Amino acid sequence: MKDSAYHIALEDKYGAHNYHPLPVVLERGEGAYVWDVEGKRYFDFLSAYSAVNQGHSHPKIVEALSKQAQKLALTSRAFHHNLLGEYEKKITELFGFDKVLPMNSGAEAVETAIKIARKWAYEVKKIQGNEAKIIVCENNFHGRTTTIVSFSTDPDAHNNYGPFTPGFIHIPYNDLQALEQVLDDQGDQIAAFLVEPIQGEAGVYVPDEGYLSGAATLCKNKNVLFIADEVQTGIARTGRMIACNHENVQPDILVLGKALSGGMYPVSAVLANDEIMGVIRPGTHGSTFGGNPIACAVAVAALDVVLDENLSERAQQLGEIFRSEMRKVIEKTDLVGSIRGKGLLNAILINDTPDSSTAWNLCLKLKENGLLAKPTHGNIIRLAPPLVISEEQIHECVGIMERSFDEFKA
Ligand SMILES: *Cc1c(COP(=O)(O)O)cnc(C)c1O
Repeated sequence: MKDSAYHIALEDKYGAHNYHPLPVVLERGEGAYVWDVEGKRYFDFLSAYSAVNQGHSHPKIVEALSKQAQKLALTSRAFHHNLLGEYEKKITELFGFDKVLPMNSGAEAVETAIKIARKWAYEVKKIQGNEAKIIVCENNFHGRTTTIVSFSTDPDAHNNYGPFTPGFIHIPYNDLQALEQVLDDQGDQIAAFLVEPIQGEAGVYVPDEGYLSGAATLCKNKNVLFIADEVQTGIARTGRMIACNHENVQPDILVLGKALSGGMYPVSAVLANDEIMGVIRPGTHGSTFGGNPIACAVAVAALDVVLDENLSERAQQLGEIFRSEMRKVIEKTDLVGSIRGKGLLNAILINDTPDSSTAWNLCLKLKENGLLAKPTHGNIIRLAPPLVISEEQIHECVGIMERSFDEFKA
């Protein structure tokens, strides 16, 4: 019989071991729910790292995908197709930029933003001799390509992948003074500041209020581009269309991915105004699949769902409810220290060391009780359900947490 153990054993034998998944084999999803091959139902509290904000298999996104797949899937950008322009109009107007450059994965979009910033530095800011620097934060996560892991401070992501791409300066996250210092010392040589408005992979670190707006102002004063990597925080996850909106910040370059397609298809995007995007000319950058007809159809549908179903407002309201209900539960247990987050991007901190197995074992207990979540950095558990989850379901999930904390024996 092809049970979970069968599938897990196959992956173990034939697949590279670049992940350590929770032992659950999923075969179906709908809204906030997923089902495993044994037919057991779970609440999905990871949402594929916030790609599935619109809920699993949203009928409107499924329809857009299947209709377009039957009509025209891929042209490459050697020819025009009849969905790209309308998609570009929609996404640029929605986020308030002149232009978009379509890519596929989040990492590709970050790479694209880095390339644009560097080209802008030489051609517009007139930095000399291929020496432009980009400021990044400690504990960043921007993807897995060679350049991006070059400036990762996570040893697992970085070590033994050299020689590394130079040109990156590290500063602590949520530290405006450190940013100001680097900009004062080396501003003339700096192209951009690349930052996550909330550090998701690092464990949902929410910066102090005023950090993003302060950073954007410091950058503006030194003619340095403010690049927001909103691959995980964007598309309504934190209670705004992008997390920068919480501080009324319009980044110079905005990077989107994940939920831009509702998790239906790899779709990412880089948005900027003409004076920046203008450095990209024919032949200087590209992607065979970027902006393909299926991607455009899916992204348009996925954005419509976010707007039609008021997912930003939902995330904002349900996030408040979730954190306040969880705080009541956390007060009654020694297992969990605190909860933090914005909108429906949250994390609980387990009262144990990062190298302990407590958080992992608690996730196994949550799984047993019908809720899927995954530890990050050992003792942090991210809690990020699809934004279509109902208030009633949120309360049910807090109940599952409470029961799991009670039953848990470390
Ligand atoms: C997931 C993520 C990426 C990388 O996206 P991929 O599609 O996995 O390449 C980049 N930046 C942030 C902030 C992310 O969360």
